[in-house]
Amino acid sequence: MVSKKSNGFEGLKQEIIDRNLCTYCGACASFCEHIELELDATREVPILKDECPLDKEGVLKCSENGTCYDVCPMTETDIEGLEKKFMDSEGIKERDEHLGIYKELIAGKTAIEGQDGGIVTSMLTAGMGNELFDCVIVANREDGFNASAKIAEHVDEIEKAKGTKYVQCPMVSKIGEAVKSGKRKIAVVGTPCEIRAVRKIQSVLLKDVPQIEITAIGLFCFESFYHDKLVKKTKELLGVDLASASKIQITKGKYVVTADGKTYKTKVAELDEAVRENCRYCDDFAAWLADISVGSVGSEDGYSTIIVRSERGEKLLDLIDFSRDDVDKKGISKAVKLKHEKFETAVGAGVGG
Ligand SMILES: Cc1cc2nc3c(=O)[nH]c(=O)nc-3n(C[C@H](O)[C@H](O)[C@H](O)COP(=O)(O)OP(=O)(O)OC[C@H]3O[C@@H](n4cnc5c(N)ncnc54)[C@H](O)[C@@H]3O)c2cc1C
Ligand code: SF4
Ligand code: SF4
Ligand code: SF4
Repeated sequence: MVSKKSNGFEGLKQEIIDRNLCTYCGACASFCEHIELELDATREVPILKDECPLDKEGVLKCSENGTCYDVCPMTETDIEGLEKKFMDSEGIKERDEHLGIYKELIAGKTAIEGQDGGIVTSMLTAGMGNELFDCVIVANREDGFNASAKIAEHVDEIEKAKGTKYVQCPMVSKIGEAVKSGKRKIAVVGTPCEIRAVRKIQSVLLKDVPQIEITAIGLFCFESFYHDKLVKKTKELLGVDLASASKIQITKGKYVVTADGKTYKTKVAELDEAVRENCRYCDDFAAWLADISVGSVGSEDGYSTIIVRSERGEKLLDLIDFSRDDVDKKGISKAVKLKHEKFETAVGAGVGG
């Protein structure tokens, strides 16, 4: 992530939003009543509703630089500092260059038919059943395979959200809503940028709400798409209406859509025009700041690759039953390196526009 300076909402607008670097995570709007999230066909960005007083607001006091600026995942982030703060745990000797800090690397498959091994849904439902969480922030499927962020308080709501939607929705804005409604033990699942925003918010929150407990479940992520463009490209390349799809997968360089019992495929590179601009400037594939990261790269079809990073993540995984398999660590490193190369190329060509 790329930015360095700061100046409240104006700084955020100039350095991130106006340069198409916004990931639409919603972190900036989470605790500030002056910011709202705008959604139309082409723009998914935060806007200022009235004015920015750089003043005391809501649960949090606004910082000197603007809390919105501080919590944005695309402004400068002290990854090492956040790793030390949230996931320093016994048994970890050194940080892996590609995978980040981790205690265990395994592949797993549960009885739940999820996107891959159903590991995420199983952990979330087990955590809820064991009262580790008051609520869980998940991404629900919406019309046309779009996504919306939801605060789930029941197991059936978590199960309904299983499966990957390859688009962004303001997951992190829901943390503000949950905290304001009295929730203190919150689990959130998200892409690496969302998990980064979660940790930045958590750092700020801990000062005012010290009893807050956040469990961050990260998803591997190479890139994500603008929904309207993904719908258009899917129709153009595969002749499929995304609304009729039962599953979308990006795997082994292919974009695979299952609809009406048939499978349609094309090279994922064909979707390049639909890739979110901000994703070109992102170098975190494995969600380094999550308590536990889950993805498909590195394991056999039907299995999830699991990177356990913290004791919190370890305890959560211990709650579920799953069959284990080995992981191809080199496969994950390859994806991490590829993403890093893409990031270097984009930064070399000049940021945003
Ligand atoms: C945008 C995106 C890109 C990804 N790219 C890769 C990749 O390149 N390589 C790779 O190995 N894995 C990637 N993944 C992760 C992979 O698709 C699976 O999510 C992961 O393997 C977990 O599988 P599971 O069966 O355990 O999950 P499930 O049990 O099916 O649960 C999936 C969970 O993901 C949440 N979710 C779904 N869509 C979103 C979203 N858009 N934002 C936030 N949360 C969401 C749901 O709420 C649900 O809780 C990506 C995920 C996303 C969201
Ligand atoms: S009051 Fe603070 S959080 Fe709100 S817009 Fe201004 S700088 Fe951002
Ligand atoms: S905090 Fe999230 S929604 Fe707000 S500007 Fe940054 S990336 Fe965009
Ligand atoms: S590529 Fe990076 S910025 Fe884009 S959705 Fe994935 S984690 Fe977020």
